Amino acid sequence: MTGPLPLVFEAPRRGKPPRHLADLSAEDRAAVAAELGEPAFRLKQVANHYFGRLERDPSTMTDLPAASRGRIVETLLPALLTPVRTMEADKGTTRKTLWRLFDGALVESVLMRYPDRATVCVSSQAGCGMACPFCATGQGGLERNMSTAEIVDQVVDAAGAMARGEIPGGVGRLSNVVFMGMGEPLANYRAVMGAVRRMVAPAPDGLGLSARNITVSTVGLVPRINQLATEGIPVTLALSLHAPDDELRSELVPINTRWTVHEAVEAAWNYARTTKRRVSIEYAMMRDINDQAWRADLLADVLQAYGDWGWVHVNLIPLNPTPGSKWTASRREDEREFVRRLEARGIPTTVRDTRGRDIDGACGQLAAAE
Ligand code: SAH
Repeated sequence: MTGPLPLVFEAPRRGKPPRHLADLSAEDRAAVAAELGEPAFRLKQVANHYFGRLERDPSTMTDLPAASRGRIVETLLPALLTPVRTMEADKGTTRKTLWRLFDGALVESVLMRYPDRATVCVSSQAGCGMACPFCATGQGGLERNMSTAEIVDQVVDAAGAMARGEIPGGVGRLSNVVFMGMGEPLANYRAVMGAVRRMVAPAPDGLGLSARNITVSTVGLVPRINQLATEGIPVTLALSLHAPDDELRSELVPINTRWTVHEAVEAAWNYARTTKRRVSIEYAMMRDINDQAWRADLLADVLQAYGDWGWVHVNLIPLNPTPGSKWTASRREDEREFVRRLEARGIPTTVRDTRGRDIDGACGQLAAAE
């Protein structure tokens, strides 16, 4: 715990988050420069500081004219995320931040440093409308969509923390982004795609991350998965399946009553085929609910209906029980048997580590508890 920072209670503000550099397309940038009465290259300079140097403090931007520096930065880089508190685990290599947005909405992100990579888990919505009963965020409903810049700013903050050596292990680079924080990214498609574009664009237009190192995780909004396949940005797709049969999946992932297991898996397969990217199937292991050996066999059947050319791998997530929930994590032996059966069928299977569990920072556990 490095917080708690003082909490400021503000009446919720209505309207859109302030416009930010990260929201702007190339054409928008020219218009905003004109609006500011500044030459177009000013925006390039500010972009260089924000995306390239991961810096937003005007006093360091000595290439901007001193007289208008404050105004330029205020206009282009308004503070979108205010830290409410941070929590650390794993000797400081996992850091969760609770952010307050301009209107008082609360979201969280988690930075995890590993020996070979650093990943930030970001939120795409305040709350979530998908109502999965085992997920902490699903319980409160959707508050609102986040803007592109609100999403990007979580990544810039994490990249800055790595670059400034704030995370034990010395100066490093943020390499991966996963949309596994609060919200359903494909239900906020435009803003999420805008954020992905900023992440993959080379500096100074963006962060220069590799698309394959960005994972978009979804409950399975089929038309949006199909749309994502046509974007020409081969992000990694993760489908939160959690059950191979419609009866159980409709209980665990209610959107299944709209798009079935078969439809969701077919869209994932189509994504793999189109983008040549291996898709990840997320499966939260819940004791005596979805972890039976026969369900492992059924899962293998469902996935192999689309061939065994390596289009998919399964990522088992040990369930993080949320307070008051009737679901709990699987027994070790059941988990092992589940893995064994999938692997026996030639399906690559991994079990997710439980980073940040003790700070409720593990995937699916992010819920603003303030
Ligand atoms: N809306 C997206 C992102 C959600 S969080 C999606 O559903 O994919 C990322 C993953 O964490 C999802 O697979 C989600 O089902 C899973 N998850 C949610 N709550 C969980 C919990 N309590 N324990 C383990 N995984 C959980």
